[in-house]
Amino acid sequence: MVTVAVIEGDGIGPEVVGATLKVLEKIRETFKLPLEFVFVEAGDRAKEKYGEALPKESYERLLRADAILKGPVGETAADVIVRLRRELDLFANIRPAKVLPGVPALKENVDLIIVRENIEDLYVGAENLLPQTSLGHKVAVGLRLASERETRRVAKVAAEYAKARRNKVTIVHKANVMRVTCGLFRDVAKEVLEAEGVEVDEMYVDAAAMELVRRPERFDVMLTPNVFGDILSDLAAQVVGSLGLAPSGNIGEERALFEPVHGAAFDIAGKGIANPTATMLAASMMLEWLERKKGLPKGAEAAAALQRAIEKALSEGVKTPDLGGNYGTFEFAEEVVKRLQLP
Ligand code: ATP
Ligand code: MG
Repeated sequence: MVTVAVIEGDGIGPEVVGATLKVLEKIRETFKLPLEFVFVEAGDRAKEKYGEALPKESYERLLRADAILKGPVGETAADVIVRLRRELDLFANIRPAKVLPGVPALKENVDLIIVRENIEDLYVGAENLLPQTSLGHKVAVGLRLASERETRRVAKVAAEYAKARRNKVTIVHKANVMRVTCGLFRDVAKEVLEAEGVEVDEMYVDAAAMELVRRPERFDVMLTPNVFGDILSDLAAQVVGSLGLAPSGNIGEERALFEPVHGAAFDIAGKGIANPTATMLAASMMLEWLERKKGLPKGAEAAAALQRAIEKALSEGVKTPDLGGNYGTFEFAEEVVKRLQLP
């Protein structure tokens, strides 16, 4: 039995996660997946109830699960996701950006994945205000971390995803300026990717930002350090439509957490109008990963079927209000269920 820990989250979280579970239950039945769901309390409501956003009991359940499906968390987001990324060693962040049928996008034919290093770079938080200097003004410095071990691990993940796609990885860096940190990232990543038999090219991050808007269809997998990846993935999400459709995976060696990119959206919570697409696409990524890493039979097939059903619904005009439609969150889920078919 493969166990998925489910964090409903805050705001629209319980709605988008609830709708996704409806679809997952149908998939489990259709594909006879040995899959069980365990609910885990975390986030704002856990903090109110227990005084902690991620209580010990919850944390231990997460440790025991094969994968985690997480809704958006509100005020306490950082207490939950930042801690989980670090403690569960989720060192790679996967952000697909794909044009969905029937959804207006800036560009057509985009289907790319950004693989972002998730725990190093400027986000390690090693920042300091320097002691009073003779300069007469404040000076702050921050540390930029790049290690061979992390780069190797994240490059391997990029290679795995590339092999299931067009087998091409673009390393995005700025090694012309940050010669040592970006230089290490570029050299180690290149070595790993070439050894894995993946086609490699590289691009400076400023050029990559431009190309993401100008000619995004040229990219397959982009591999990049934490900060660049953070910025480029929001950019890419907007190029293909909206943040409300963007899923993500936080991947470790043996653990992974899948979630929508968007936040708790308290302004529309409880109204039954939130778009569950991003969470459903995150669930699709999870099923694929569960087959590859945990041996879930038919996981990849189920993932593809879910993706197709979502695309079919959208292309036939089944849309929530954020996309100009009038389907509610659970009605959307029902329509996706109707379109689930065995291949
Ligand atoms: P955070 O503080 O975590 O960023 P947020 O409440 O600002 O959370 P965002 O994800 O930044 O939420 O979303 C901004 C706005 O976009 C929301 O207020 C909401 O109106 C809209 N939005 C976000 N996600 C969805 C969704 N899944 N369906 C419909 N609308 C959404
Ligand atoms: Mg926001």
